[in-house]
Amino acid sequence: MSDAPVSYAPSGGPDEVCSYEDTVAAYDPVLGLEVHVELGTKTKMFCGCPTEFGADPNTQVCPVCLGLPGALPVVNETGVESAIKIGLALNCEIATWCRFARKNYFYPDMPKNFQTSQYDEPIAFNGWLDVLLEDGSTYRVPIERAHMEEDTGKSTHVGGATGRIHGADYSLVDYNRAGIPLIEIVTKPMTGVGDRAPEIAKAYVGALRDLLRALGVSDVKMEQGSLRCDANVSLRAKVGDDPGSEAQQEVPLGTRTETKNVNSLRSVERAVRYEMTRHAAVLSAGQTIVQETRHWHEDTGVTTSGRVKSDAEDYRYFPEPDLVPIAPDREWVERLRASLPEPPAQRRRRLQETWGFSDLEMRDVVNAGAVELIEATVAAGATPAGARKWWGGELARRANADGRDLGDMGVTPAAIAQLDGLVQSGRLNDSMARQVLDGVLAGEGMPLHVADARGLAVVQDDGALTEAVNTVLAANPDLVDKIRAGKVQAAGALIGQVMKATKGQADAAKVRQLIMDTVAPEQG
Ligand code: ADP
Ligand code: MG
Ligand code: ZN
Repeated sequence: MSDAPVSYAPSGGPDEVCSYEDTVAAYDPVLGLEVHVELGTKTKMFCGCPTEFGADPNTQVCPVCLGLPGALPVVNETGVESAIKIGLALNCEIATWCRFARKNYFYPDMPKNFQTSQYDEPIAFNGWLDVLLEDGSTYRVPIERAHMEEDTGKSTHVGGATGRIHGADYSLVDYNRAGIPLIEIVTKPMTGVGDRAPEIAKAYVGALRDLLRALGVSDVKMEQGSLRCDANVSLRAKVGDDPGSEAQQEVPLGTRTETKNVNSLRSVERAVRYEMTRHAAVLSAGQTIVQETRHWHEDTGVTTSGRVKSDAEDYRYFPEPDLVPIAPDREWVERLRASLPEPPAQRRRRLQETWGFSDLEMRDVVNAGAVELIEATVAAGATPAGARKWWGGELARRANADGRDLGDMGVTPAAIAQLDGLVQSGRLNDSMARQVLDGVLAGEGMPLHVADARGLAVVQDDGALTEAVNTVLAANPDLVDKIRAGKVQAAGALIGQVMKATKGQADAAKVRQLIMDTVAPEQG
């Protein structure tokens, strides 16, 4: 639902938060994540209005999604199909029969005065999702349910300092978003997470995003609100050092807070970490946590009190009388199951094997968001190692420094494949290839074109290279003696001089070979 300011209460507790170390030394954290995903259907969930993002306010509305009297909703079949696919991909059971329910509340961004949602009869329930953590281990996130509902409209509060309704001069409401299909995916309380709670929260939302993208059911753009996360956090007393121990699981759960609409992976991690340290400070001061929603502030990295929210809020849920129950045919469900793409985690394992990457290399590639790019680059003819070297190294570093997505760097997989080809064929050495990449990034064209235009090529002419080597050897009799005496590492200085003499246009391996062949053939 929308984050309607029903009532306000101070969150209480000290201003300071505990250090993270003290927090996890004294308490056992429990997590619960609610993720809303906006489906990529062409039309809304219960009417034929378009769903495209960014249209002028209130141009994508009709009597149904405006809740005008007498308007009747009709369920979007693709919306149901996407919900089933998501449920199946999350290893859920699919209901044989379920209904929509009215969730009644009054708030202007919901023109019907109720939200069509699902309550005690979700379409999918009781599943799990394995997420890969940075140390290579896996955590199995228990899924409570995935249910269908509709998005609300969007209000803008004008005037006032905070952009919130308090202190605003007036508010505008745009109903274009009202009625867009949403799937809410709710985890069971995640226990046994210990000090990895923030990392697991981030990894779960990331894994879910990858999965939803692979299913093709949503554009999963967190920055546009297609994927939004509410993070529930509580602390309980810690018993011993094993968060998974039986004794620990017997300790009753603490009171949770729900941090709303966290909209990046990094923020999910930060918000969970912050709430843990805040809870710890409140509890350590002998005070109690207020069950409430919290707002996350990206700029300051803190949460502030939202509205008090009890478990038994009275939304007067009742089955939606205007929509027929949903009873997905088992044959349909099985057809959808058979059509599911390879799960991202399995796909990753397969690619790692095919590419021959170590666990560490693969993890770096995944963390850099480079898996798809490497796949496309290899498909365009590059060696897996070459593709990894560029996307996972040089380009990842630059993307990181510029705060950009790897895919938005203006370099295509085809360009990287061509660059790799130039290195593999010996036309470019490492430092030249880097210069060529600079040119590509500067918009000078494809690598081959840049290399030609900048006159970059390894000297292939053995005669010229031999001459350069001989000149350097003649000028450095002391180093030559050292090599002859068995100090092979002295060759490094000679190679450096030859590279300098040839303006970096020689192949270092070849120079080394020439030097050793001349000075000490038996050691080369
Ligand atoms: P709400 O209507 O308040 O959003 P939901 O059932 O949709 O309730 O979601 C509640 C979320 O909070 C679930 O992910 C659940 O696992 C989690 N949760 C419940 N109790 C706790 C707790 N004590 N600590 C942490 N998370 C919890
Ligand atoms: Mg909820
Ligand atoms: Zn409509």
